[in-house]
Amino acid sequence: MTKVIPLPHLSGFTERNGVWYAEEIPLTNLAKEFGTPLYVYSKKALKEAYEAYDRACIDAKGKRRARVHYAMKANSNLAVIDCFKNLGAGFDLVSGGELARALAIGAEPSSLVFAGVGKSAAEITQALKAGVKCINVESIAELHKINRVAKGLNCRAPISLRVNPDVDAQTHPYISTGLKGNKFGIAYYEVLKTYREAVQLSQIDIVGIDCHIGSQITTTEPYLDALDKVLDLVEQLKKEGIIIHHLDLGGGLGIAYGAETPPDITEFTNALLDRIDERGFAHLDVILEPGRSLVGNAGVLLTQVEYLKPGTEKNFCIVDAAMTELLRPALYEAHHGIVPIEKKSAKSVIYDVVGPVCESGDWLGRDRALAVEEGDVLAILSAGAYGFVMASNYNTRPMPAEILVDGKNAYVVRERQKLVDLFAHEKVPTK
Ligand SMILES: *Cc1c(COP(=O)(O)O)cnc(C)c1O
Repeated sequence: MTKVIPLPHLSGFTERNGVWYAEEIPLTNLAKEFGTPLYVYSKKALKEAYEAYDRACIDAKGKRRARVHYAMKANSNLAVIDCFKNLGAGFDLVSGGELARALAIGAEPSSLVFAGVGKSAAEITQALKAGVKCINVESIAELHKINRVAKGLNCRAPISLRVNPDVDAQTHPYISTGLKGNKFGIAYYEVLKTYREAVQLSQIDIVGIDCHIGSQITTTEPYLDALDKVLDLVEQLKKEGIIIHHLDLGGGLGIAYGAETPPDITEFTNALLDRIDERGFAHLDVILEPGRSLVGNAGVLLTQVEYLKPGTEKNFCIVDAAMTELLRPALYEAHHGIVPIEKKSAKSVIYDVVGPVCESGDWLGRDRALAVEEGDVLAILSAGAYGFVMASNYNTRPMPAEILVDGKNAYVVRERQKLVDLFAHEKVPTK
């Protein structure tokens, strides 16, 4: 039996008389012009998602209460991050590579926060030289490394400690980050001790405190639990004369891929800000780091049906996209809605939608009722986050092109990789 899972609400992609559009362009036109597999993003959807957050960051009296730092690991295409920069976003970075991307689009260094459990000395150097707003420290050893690097550069390092609050975000184990068994953040019981240590270090400026408890979280409760635990620490630090200026609550708010019902952005933000006020911390600057909830439903992956392969156990719909373009199903058994971009008269059959890669884990959708024929193009929905950024060249497959649609216009924001590019840097040793 197949469960019927509803399609998510999409603002940038609509079906009109059986034909799917990205804003004002039929997806069939894009597939014909640019080929498949193809990522397509909607600028309107990016803008609407950002604006919903930004509105929620401003209170009824017009006062800004929080700032959005887009977590670019969800989708770091320069056109996407440039769009958020122009809307006023700062960025959350997790590598020197992402820092280079932010600088490449001219982001203000003071709008950048740098997180990640394994920052190298080279990455710390890069961040301090750029002048980022804050480095989010994930271990005591890292704190000391930052101090040493800053000493070498003869500069000061603004830091925040990432607290592991030990709360259960009730999400997939691979995307939960705030439990004490996770590698992320500083163990709750060690945070105060580490701040006391930070005060003693010559090059360290304590500016904030942060946490990030996981991803695809669909209720507000785990956030409130984590917030309370973090505020308990801020209270204790204040008693000891250690002043925290900003509170970074991370990202992780989920989206609807199917039947999920994540909280409304305004209600979610209000719940957090109200709790901060109730506890007497209205003076703290608040940072939110959404990734998925800004881009997830602003993108689709187009893929062409290569073969229909009926079987006794399963029918397979073999398409030209694979785990190499969209890893989430293989990695997390994640569900994505899948629709033919043009309705045909074919009979509806239950298929597993799979790619051509030589792995049984290479599937994109299971038990889907689809009315399709060879050559038809499918749209895999909700592919804007953790889609292209997780793409690989496994099986020597070139990475797909990315298109940004703005109204009637389509822009190639990344060209399809050419086969020669895949081994251009390889060398056969000569005797
Ligand atoms: C991944 C990550 C985010 C964004 O998570 P989403 O689930 O995409 O919102 C925010 N902050 C940090 C530190 C992260 O690692």
